[in-house]
Amino acid sequence: MTAFEIPGSVETATTHFPTPFHIYDAAAMSRASEQLYEAMEKAAVPGFQNFFAVKALPNPHVLRELVALGHGLDCSSLAELALAKQVGVNGEKVMFTSNNTSDEEFAAAHELGAIINFDDVIYAERYIERLGAPAFACGRFNPGELFTSTNGKDNMLRGNPAEQKYGMSREQLAETYRQLKAAGTTRFGLHAMLLSNNRLWENHAAVAKLLFQTAREIAEEVGIEFSSINLGGGIGVVYSPDDEAFDYEAFASAVAEAHEAAGLEACGSPRVVMENGRAITASAGWLVTRVQNVKRSYKTYIGVDASMANLMRPGMYGAYHHISLIGDNGSRESELVDVVGALCENNDKFAVDRELPELKVGDMLAIHTTGAHGHAMGFNYNGRLRSAEVLAKNGELKLIRRAETLDDLFAAITPLEPMS
Ligand SMILES: *Cc1c(COP(=O)(O)O)cnc(C)c1O
Repeated sequence: MTAFEIPGSVETATTHFPTPFHIYDAAAMSRASEQLYEAMEKAAVPGFQNFFAVKALPNPHVLRELVALGHGLDCSSLAELALAKQVGVNGEKVMFTSNNTSDEEFAAAHELGAIINFDDVIYAERYIERLGAPAFACGRFNPGELFTSTNGKDNMLRGNPAEQKYGMSREQLAETYRQLKAAGTTRFGLHAMLLSNNRLWENHAAVAKLLFQTAREIAEEVGIEFSSINLGGGIGVVYSPDDEAFDYEAFASAVAEAHEAAGLEACGSPRVVMENGRAITASAGWLVTRVQNVKRSYKTYIGVDASMANLMRPGMYGAYHHISLIGDNGSRESELVDVVGALCENNDKFAVDRELPELKVGDMLAIHTTGAHGHAMGFNYNGRLRSAEVLAKNGELKLIRRAETLDDLFAAITPLEPMS
């Protein structure tokens, strides 16, 4: 299948479920997962594992599929830890990478036996004081001006590390490991997340090189060994037919080479891990929506029954998502249109000046590449309801989350007293 072909299950789903809904294809997730694992295996990257970033697609039905494919889970909040617990994942298959963390969250991560990834020395101190030294602790590195990526356009969601709230400097990292070591931690990891939706393998390889080198130096300085080096997530995907795909094989070879060149056997021969979300599930998801109005004013506006509340990326980042007419047989003329939701918010557009087949009320559209940071970023502004989620697997369709109702929306409101 090419990147923008729609699996048959998506069309079938339109006759089973009211729109809008997100649908995920288990086979496509499995293929994306294999791409990463096979490349890493072929290049013999030591002990490679991906910890799926739960925030990208926080549905336990999907997480269970991913765990079966060999992923650990990367969690950053109480809810994400609860999801890991629900799918029976604990211990060192869970990585807890949080920032501005509460005591309650640390306690939940501790209870699960997760690898704790500290964003700063203040968190390590607090953790040790309240919960004791974690068995396996990781430090989050922010190299500041030491790291620049070459792909400004693709890197717009991350930007300059020195402007990020995450992680700590080289000196602070060393101090964090010193304190952890003194408190009794015996296993250590090093982590950074410096790229987002970045499709240039050279940038990801540069992160690996930087981390391997830093691990070597810190190990010697502090007198510890490293069990794992976490290169972060952020491998980019093809959102537009013009995008070039990430080269997994070139990346994996470069990582293996850098691992060897850094002489990491001198500091514990750490395994290499990542925490990609998008690269695993983005291309396995579609937001299916129905055309409910065609309005011709200054422009032609295709009004659909989904909105920015179901998929925020276009409105928030100006991100491109490909759109197809489901069942398109190529017979219609094309037309330049804006595809819009119903929010009273002018950013609520899935596409601006997009060439699409001439659309009519009742047509079904598939918005592509919504399997990561799609439904998950949903919200209720304007009283819009979060949509259902469907999982297609082995020719079967399973509703894995029902659509929200008005009752859900109002459930948390204190009932009004009767008027006197
Ligand atoms: C969001 C996030 C990820 C996942 O990013 P993707 O672009 O989905 O790969 C991984 N790690 C951290 C710390 C994150 O914040």
